[in-house]
Amino acid sequence: MSTNKTKATVPVETPSGNKYLYDRKLKKSVLAHPILFFLARLKAKGDNINDWFDSQTGKTIDIPDAGTFSKEEVEYYIRKLQFLEVSGFFKEIAQDKILTRKLNVDAITTVLANLRQITFELTDSCQMNCYYCGYGQLYNNYDSRENKMMDFDTARKAIDYVNNQVNSSLNVSHKRDLYMGFYGGEPLLNFSLIQKIVEYVNQLHWEHNSIRFTITTNGLLLDKYMDFIKEHNFNTFISLDGDQSNSEYRVLKNGEPTFDRVIRNVELLKEKYPDYFKERVFFNAVLHNKNSVEELFNFFKKKFDKLPGILPLNTGGIREDRIEEFKKAFVDQAESLNSSKDYTKIEKEMFVKLGMIQSVTNFMFSSLDFWYDDYNHFFTPEKVPPRFPSDTCMPFAQKMFVTVNGKILGCERIGHEYELGWVTPESIKIDFPEIVDKYNAWHDKIRKKCQVCYIFNQCSQCMFYLDLTKENPVCDRFKDFNAYSKYAGFFFDYFEKRPGLFDRILKEVLIG
Ligand code: SF4
Ligand code: SF4
Repeated sequence: MSTNKTKATVPVETPSGNKYLYDRKLKKSVLAHPILFFLARLKAKGDNINDWFDSQTGKTIDIPDAGTFSKEEVEYYIRKLQFLEVSGFFKEIAQDKILTRKLNVDAITTVLANLRQITFELTDSCQMNCYYCGYGQLYNNYDSRENKMMDFDTARKAIDYVNNQVNSSLNVSHKRDLYMGFYGGEPLLNFSLIQKIVEYVNQLHWEHNSIRFTITTNGLLLDKYMDFIKEHNFNTFISLDGDQSNSEYRVLKNGEPTFDRVIRNVELLKEKYPDYFKERVFFNAVLHNKNSVEELFNFFKKKFDKLPGILPLNTGGIREDRIEEFKKAFVDQAESLNSSKDYTKIEKEMFVKLGMIQSVTNFMFSSLDFWYDDYNHFFTPEKVPPRFPSDTCMPFAQKMFVTVNGKILGCERIGHEYELGWVTPESIKIDFPEIVDKYNAWHDKIRKKCQVCYIFNQCSQCMFYLDLTKENPVCDRFKDFNAYSKYAGFFFDYFEKRPGLFDRILKEVLIG
């Protein structure tokens, strides 16, 4: 096998002892008899099955972990293996021929013309000092926080630029929502700018889009500004980590807890605008060692009849000297969910809001031979389109994020060193050829690893969380043949234990 090819068929065993052969190229899986499973593993090791059979001198053959079988039985499964082989199993995947996509200027221009969201970091100031804040003590990949306020001129330049791009004929959407997002620090500390932006955006002509507003707030100033927020029908995301003790990390600069004040404001909003609250208010909770999936579920369900979005602690840009502290605070969502008393109920109600179900869904869609990415794929399913290495979105595919310093980034979750451009006092500077060169150089750094990674077409790794300053960045999610076999086993087990899950994902996620 060439060094850049991976084996398409992977033997997969679940903890209940069921065995499968899962073909990553055909996107098919078959239940396998233990003999067939054993033979497939021999084949994967590179052994010649006929030579192995000829070397068996006794009347019966011992198959490890399966038992003793007659030669006729084993021959039957050798024929079955050969049948699978002529049916397309056991081929190789030339990942080096697939992970060849290069970014170009046309692709970025098209993505930008179809932008879905522009988010403004209206200020880097915040009344709170949350222990785990991505702009706080545990991290070092952001521009220094200096209590700055974005001015209207910066926002207006970015809006005009976007307005120009999305009004172009390259925008193929018909009145699709384009979100204007307000983010911080705490965006309500710069409320006058929110007012100006809303007024300005509403008087511009948007040829192909409907404009919607969205805000992420810590809730401390909601009592003051809720009328405006409701009047303009904002999608409001309130950050809260559960009940009083769950929210211990969310404190003011002087260390005082914030829970009571936030809850008072949220209840006020609910009382004053019940319909708006029901439709447009959402909660984002960060999972850490002071709460759990179960506590979050119970708290938001009981208190507000809502299901929270549950976010992990940011794993990019952690300071070397704070890694141990970070590890103490970090909690894996799947582990937390598993330790819930009422696991089934939580999973049933939260469903795609859970990271676990999102991963299962991703695995499922990429493993089905009747799932097509687009019309081209539908008409020529054998043609595998070239891909970028990793799962990093294209520049502006998720959003345009404008920092308080006028830096333009692909999203708010990545380090500030990955800027795509600047809002300068004179204009907007986005140098497309420069972005192309940068992205292609970063992709080149991880391409080799991705070419031999078995998870390459189910990857969920953003390259900006890897250390791209290194010549060969390390990716902890890399999977070789054996690791992938275990990884797939986990998902097969997940489906085995939940007979209705496959159907529910098809109905609720795919068909919606
Ligand atoms: S984290 Fe990475 S992949 Fe996700 S939106 Fe940001 S840049 Fe894109
Ligand atoms: S998991 Fe890491 S090594 Fe594997 S394809 Fe994704 S980015 Fe590449």
